[in-house]
Amino acid sequence: MAIVLALLVVVSWISLALVHREDLSDLIAFPIALLGAAIMFYDSIMEIRKGNLSIDLLACIAVISAMLIHEFLPAAIVVVMLLGGQAIEEYASGRASRAIDSLVKIRPKTARVLRADQISEVAVDELIVGDVVIVSPGDRIPVDGVVINGSATVDEASITGESLPLEKSVNTTVLSGTICQNGQLEIKATKVGEDTKFAHIIKLVREAQGSKARIQRVADRYAKLFTPLILGLALLTYVITGQPIRSVTILLAASPCPLLLATPVAVVSAIGKAARLGILVRSGASMETAGSVNAVVFDKTGTLTDGRLRVTRVQPFNGPAASEVIRYAALAEKLSNHPIAKAITDYATEQGIVVDKPSEFREIVGSGVIAKNNGERISLGNARFMESQLIHLSKEVERFMIESLNRPETTLLVARNSTVFGALCLADVLKPNAKFAIDRLRTAGIAKISILTGDSKMAGEAVGRELGVDANCEVLPDEKAMFIQALKRAENRVAMVGDGINDAPALATADVGIAMGAAGSDVAIETADVTIMADDLVKVSEAITLSRNMLRIAKQSLLVGILANVLGVTLSAFGILNPVLGATFHECADLFVILNSARAFTTRV
Ligand code: ADP
Ligand code: MG
Repeated sequence: MAIVLALLVVVSWISLALVHREDLSDLIAFPIALLGAAIMFYDSIMEIRKGNLSIDLLACIAVISAMLIHEFLPAAIVVVMLLGGQAIEEYASGRASRAIDSLVKIRPKTARVLRADQISEVAVDELIVGDVVIVSPGDRIPVDGVVINGSATVDEASITGESLPLEKSVNTTVLSGTICQNGQLEIKATKVGEDTKFAHIIKLVREAQGSKARIQRVADRYAKLFTPLILGLALLTYVITGQPIRSVTILLAASPCPLLLATPVAVVSAIGKAARLGILVRSGASMETAGSVNAVVFDKTGTLTDGRLRVTRVQPFNGPAASEVIRYAALAEKLSNHPIAKAITDYATEQGIVVDKPSEFREIVGSGVIAKNNGERISLGNARFMESQLIHLSKEVERFMIESLNRPETTLLVARNSTVFGALCLADVLKPNAKFAIDRLRTAGIAKISILTGDSKMAGEAVGRELGVDANCEVLPDEKAMFIQALKRAENRVAMVGDGINDAPALATADVGIAMGAAGSDVAIETADVTIMADDLVKVSEAITLSRNMLRIAKQSLLVGILANVLGVTLSAFGILNPVLGATFHECADLFVILNSARAFTTRV
């Protein structure tokens, strides 16, 4: 429809400009202008009744006044381009959402499920938690769940942006929307339908794309002033020059679209691009703030160091066997999801030590854990934690602590009731790309990079030295938030990067809270401003760069749009542009703005 009209307008333009058949040109343009005016008039009235002074009103007045002075072709140009422009805008902002929609569409419709020893094909909507589904090569996994049989490589790019396929075997978790590449899996569903991580991500990105960035709100305010301003200028020009044609040209040349579209199109495109890279951005405002960050603070354990934290030494005090120390420690950690807990329970499993569940369990975030079993109280944590529990450290224990202070390891004490009976030392392993990621941030011009950790000075500073950044050690979780607050007061825009397990207060306090590796935790996705799905630290600088590119592009679009308006209106007022040129000018500016802003989807980071 828009295309046919556009062709007609071109014919009309040719008849006027090249063969000078004004009558023919008008014959074609008149009905188009009339139709457009009618539609716009109707839309504007509807908007006004809702109390909105719509931007269409200006276009409507422009078209009607152009027709009143028998300028049918420019009126038709504005009509056609308005329709065409809408289509282009929809395309540009739609492309980013379509990147997500296409994911939704390839979501499987049916799944093969094993019920009562029979395999049957059921609609995905009918799956329930606890169902066992069977997935073959090439299938998209329909549920979040745990593998109970088989092994396969799975491509998780749709969730994490990580293109390397992962090995999955019994007891590993799989996510809905990811693709089984080879091998066969039997998966016990833990989450289905709207509860799956995949569904959450899609919902979140959609919401983010609909939310507004700050510069967008500023632009909205100006857009409201635009219509009265232009009408005023047109009137003024008429009063001064007495030439209605100049006023009409002003109306035709002026375009509020750059103000309205420059930022939203860029924001939506950038959020879509980020999602493709496995970076979930909560809102337009977060997308914008990320680019202005000048200080980045990293949590250490679980963020800079990986889950491969390893138990390196076990030291019993006063008699117990090493295996007893491990057994008690693993029991205390059984219900914690801290990386330290995982390291200790894994170690116990490796050693073939069977561990009971504690009857009571409490985690003191950033300090340690307390568990009860068979009437005994088992405490596990650092020396400071023991002291806070009023647990006395014997000379022998103190000697051991002092000695281990000089090693870059995390030392934890295990106490039964109020007696420390063993220690465990864990070595922190930096994530393979931690150094590279920090270098990338520095290259991006971020000078203030630091580590904030609850771990000991030795362990924290060893990591700091290795990465060439400052380490702030022995900081409790709520002190972390205060530290961020202090940085903010010193005129910094702060990003805090954490693993989302016990950094929530700090993540929330920072200007931009970035949660890492959230393919594992829902809380992080819900609370952080930016969530990096894969466990890839390089994405931190990618998010910042993407935001900066987006801001630059949006400002560029805005500037060009505003200049075009000033120029168009001025030239029209002085009678240099005729209505046809005025209308054409307007549309070129709009087109530029939309296409330019849409570049935020294709920018390189
Ligand atoms: P980071 O700030 O480096 O992420 P955390 O704040 O998570 O570290 O933990 C700080 C310190 O608190 C750890 O180094 C450890 O000594 C102690 N700790 C925290 N959680 C646990 C736990 N579940 N078991 C034992 N010790 C813990
Ligand atoms: Mg941590």
